[in-house]
Amino acid sequence: MKTKILEINSKRIDLAKIKLAAEEIKKGNLVAFPTETVYGLGADALNEKAVAKIFQAKERPFNDPLIAHIADIKELYRLSQQVPPVAIKLAKVFWPGPLTLVLKKSKLVSGIVTAGLDTVAVRMPEDNIALSLIRESETPIAAPSANLFGRTSPTTAQHVTDDLDGKIEIIINGGKTKVGVESTVLDVTVEPVRVLRAGGISVEKLKEVVGQVKISKELKEGFRSPGMLNSHYSPQAKLILVENKEETKIEEVRRLASKYMTQGFKVGIMAKEENQNKYGRFEVKVIGKGTELEVCAANLFTILRSFDKEGFEIIIAEGLKEHGLGLAIMERLRKAAAPK
Ligand code: AMP
Ligand code: MG
Repeated sequence: MKTKILEINSKRIDLAKIKLAAEEIKKGNLVAFPTETVYGLGADALNEKAVAKIFQAKERPFNDPLIAHIADIKELYRLSQQVPPVAIKLAKVFWPGPLTLVLKKSKLVSGIVTAGLDTVAVRMPEDNIALSLIRESETPIAAPSANLFGRTSPTTAQHVTDDLDGKIEIIINGGKTKVGVESTVLDVTVEPVRVLRAGGISVEKLKEVVGQVKISKELKEGFRSPGMLNSHYSPQAKLILVENKEETKIEEVRRLASKYMTQGFKVGIMAKEENQNKYGRFEVKVIGKGTELEVCAANLFTILRSFDKEGFEIIIAEGLKEHGLGLAIMERLRKAAAPK
């Protein structure tokens, strides 16, 4: 299959191109498209055969459920017949945006989308390209991140090409994604609501709207939550996350970098801007200022992928503070560092 690349500017949508992509969705084929979080690999969420193609192209196991993307809140009531008031409250504040709600599914939603669960994950993305693609396709679009299973999520169309060229009909290039980490996944079938995956909307922001928010135990411990497998987000290089306190962090990063370099490995360090000059002869990539966690989140996957492209074998990553988007960053780094 020859993958077609469509260049679209999200500020000046070319509707003819969107319609071309929407035709492929309607035919049951796959289209990769930008959202504000990461690039998604989309198929008609109500067409089982089309959804099956997502798993095939990504080599993703069927026990990992997908998120259904909608462009109109009315669609939420088609996908779930039990929409609790708290879901509406959250949707009003955070949609369109990087928050995914997990609700009881309706009969319309096939088990292939939900990995056999009786709940469905739904989100309204903010990106104009994503929204108009969903509208023109006239169906919810099931879309996981547009990467091969287990790899880091794509934040540019080039990342998608690197993983999926020749396996899907269309890749829409809409430039680098804004948020850079996936959506926050929030279970609203329980009280208090529970974060299953940290992401683009911080726990602090959720608390401002709903008061009490629980954080899934698995998330805190860096283990799996439903469908979230440890091999997620991994660069090809071995990643070592240094979670020491500030006072000993730099020393520990230096020690590990020396150790692996002496063994002959190509070693890279992912550091905060404040620390970039503390590693002398080692190769350093800067994730951003430790105080600007939104910038760090936007850079995270791009940096991990660039280490791979440049042939690094070991990445030593400085841990970041776990407030705001720092929680989402640390969750992904811990998963990337977990033994395969
Ligand atoms: P991705 O779109 O690749 O970021 O992956 C979607 C993620 O959303 C899954 O890996 C799950 O963690 C989460 N998810 C999707 N559906 C459900 C569900 N019904 N219950 C809990 N988590 C879900
Ligand atoms: Mg993913």
